[in-house]
Amino acid sequence: MKYYSLNYNSKSALFSDAVKRGLAPDRGLYFPETVPQLQNKFFQTIEKMNTAEMAYSVIKPFIGNQILKAPLMEIISETLDFEFPLVEIKENIAALELFQGPTLAFKDVGARFMARSLGHINRNSDQKITVLVATSGDTGGAVANGFLGVEGVDVVILYPKGKVSEIQEKQLTTLGQNISALEVDGVFDDCQEMVKTAFLDNSLSDISLTSANSINIARWLPQMFYYFIAYRALKEKNKKLVFSVPSGNFGNICAGIMGQQMGLPIDHFIACTNVNDAVPRFLKTGTYDPKPTVPTISNAMDVGNPSNFIRIQKIFNNDVVRMKKVISGYRYTDNETKKGLKEIYDLKGYIADPHGAVGYLGLKEFLSKQKDDFYGVFLETAHPVKFMDTVEKTLKTKVTVPERLKDTLVKEKNSTPIKDYNQLRSYLLD
Ligand SMILES: *Cc1c(COP(=O)(O)O)cnc(C)c1O
Repeated sequence: MKYYSLNYNSKSALFSDAVKRGLAPDRGLYFPETVPQLQNKFFQTIEKMNTAEMAYSVIKPFIGNQILKAPLMEIISETLDFEFPLVEIKENIAALELFQGPTLAFKDVGARFMARSLGHINRNSDQKITVLVATSGDTGGAVANGFLGVEGVDVVILYPKGKVSEIQEKQLTTLGQNISALEVDGVFDDCQEMVKTAFLDNSLSDISLTSANSINIARWLPQMFYYFIAYRALKEKNKKLVFSVPSGNFGNICAGIMGQQMGLPIDHFIACTNVNDAVPRFLKTGTYDPKPTVPTISNAMDVGNPSNFIRIQKIFNNDVVRMKKVISGYRYTDNETKKGLKEIYDLKGYIADPHGAVGYLGLKEFLSKQKDDFYGVFLETAHPVKFMDTVEKTLKTKVTVPERLKDTLVKEKNSTPIKDYNQLRSYLLD
């Protein structure tokens, strides 16, 4: 498989180069040259496959012989070594819990897959790779955890001082080994700006720098696994399936749609956002008009101009009519989100997080307009403990802290304060 740039001004790249680069040289996102098709037989026997075998068949055509079967199976097994439970909270509505991984957010799967793939691709090289990543909270923890102990790769995380939650800060700063955290005296945008400057800085050209956000194909594509796992569990219901995806940069939903294009029998997708609603507005008006980001209680979706939307447009060949047959869009305010949290809690005592609640609301609204009998799944993208304040205040109940988080919380924070780009540059050159 080759990947071309959606800016159409760079050469096509094989999987390994696309992963090492992140973005194409013309700053475009990489997109696969063809959409692989899975055979009917695959879906007829899917319930007999274990998760790793199933995931292997899904991702293999995207990688070709760039990673051989044995190491790829190992990468997949390590990536998916936790559960993805479906919890039914109402007739024909279930939450797909994607937060059972080490950092309690769905980004664990993409981050682990990318880390292991990059480590493997780079295994015989003398050149160390440095992953530089700016985080407003969740991404940094998942990336740090995913790359921990991966040989030949160092990770440098920039986070804004005092702007991430205590849990998030501990997840970033307590790992050690090949992970370092830089505490930036500024806001998230300052961190992001420094990372961008570093990528363009010729004086750093001896360092092999890459990024680890969802524009990287090795973080984006493995998110397809969730939809196959859920389909396998729901196949015997024999119903039309609809997935509701709380969306920010639109990597997760784009992966699901890719799975559908490969043949996965999903009837519909719902793109749910908070008030950062560029895509739902596009689906309504046909005009893409991104706006500056507005802060909300579902802050992992506070994205004014979603970077993966261009990939979704490509899947539908920029045809809005075709896109609307597959995707519906809904957006919700913080107040509506809190009502959603309460409603889910009242139904079955289920404690969702604000992102999952946005997904639930969209699913409910969609289902209320259908004549057909659907089975609906909303993705629970984070553990409620990560948004403890909002959840506890809204539901007037306590959220139990999972055991695996308790270990992190007692560890000592270890980070290096920096003030400006020059300090980042010196740090990288050391
Ligand atoms: C990143 C994130 C999202 C948004 O996912 P995208 O792939 O960027 O659309 C939703 N919920 C949580 C908890 C996240 O961390």
